[in-house]
Amino acid sequence: MDLGIKGKKAIVCASSKGLGFGCAKALAEAGVNLTMCARNEANLLKSKNELLKFGIEIKTAAVDITSINGQNEVLKLCPKPDILINNAGGPPPGLWSDWDQSDFIKALEANMLTPIALTKAVLPKMIANKWGRVINITSKSVKAPIPALGLSNASRTGLTGYVAGTSRQVASHNVTINNLLPGSHYTDRIKMLEKNAASKSDITIEKVRENNHAKIPSGRYGTIEEFGATCAFICSIHAGFIVGQNILLDGGEVFSTL
Ligand code: NAP
Repeated sequence: MDLGIKGKKAIVCASSKGLGFGCAKALAEAGVNLTMCARNEANLLKSKNELLKFGIEIKTAAVDITSINGQNEVLKLCPKPDILINNAGGPPPGLWSDWDQSDFIKALEANMLTPIALTKAVLPKMIANKWGRVINITSKSVKAPIPALGLSNASRTGLTGYVAGTSRQVASHNVTINNLLPGSHYTDRIKMLEKNAASKSDITIEKVRENNHAKIPSGRYGTIEEFGATCAFICSIHAGFIVGQNILLDGGEVFSTL
């Protein structure tokens, strides 16, 4: 299927690895010019080089996207994106009693206020252009809380509420805002969570992984390629009627009828 977005410009945040890179790669395959960012410059340049084979233009910013300076630097490189993919690292796991106000503020800044600020910055140009796609990478925790990820549960649900309303305010301009909710995908983030779970119980990382696979009806973790392909479709010309949705990619792990 031709996604119809060749030559468009996308900002893909936090995209040197993992789900962000999966999205960047799928958009690159569709001929979209990219502005990528991550904090570690060497990893970012390595990922950029991997995508140059698709014959697109790629700009990079080695920044912390959760900082105002980082956001401004990315927007300076790509002031009028057609597509914005919001992403950043997830907050650390823990117990409810571990977190104080500063932990919540950090999580809210990374996983709620940063995507809101970037969305607000790019919407006027998308609206003027009568075309735009904004996608937030959130989490299955929005639909089914993960107890050890209280900071994530809280901040991402806040973003979800914002998207629910704002997406309806801009849809008539052919600008869509949607959320992609990853379940368990095999990235460094999941490897870190596996290690954390193994250290808290008396079992090996391999056993943690086996147990995790057993909880997923598909019997495995998702791949960044599957995730990226869904992202590229939601960014495509065919997805203009998908508005304000929370699309779960979890191999059936969240048990719900709707
Ligand atoms: P990952 O494999 O650890 O990759 C994270 C990427 O984001 C890296 O490129 C990292 O590069 C970049 N990054 C992190 N913090 C950043 C920041 N402040 N500014 C700029 N770049 C930043 O993580 P992932 O698994 O793809 O997860 C992506 C998001 O999805 C996270 O918020 C995670 O909590 C959420 N999620 C993931 C899963 C899953 O199964 N993997 C499930 C649910 C939710 P640098 O470190 O160099 O900055």
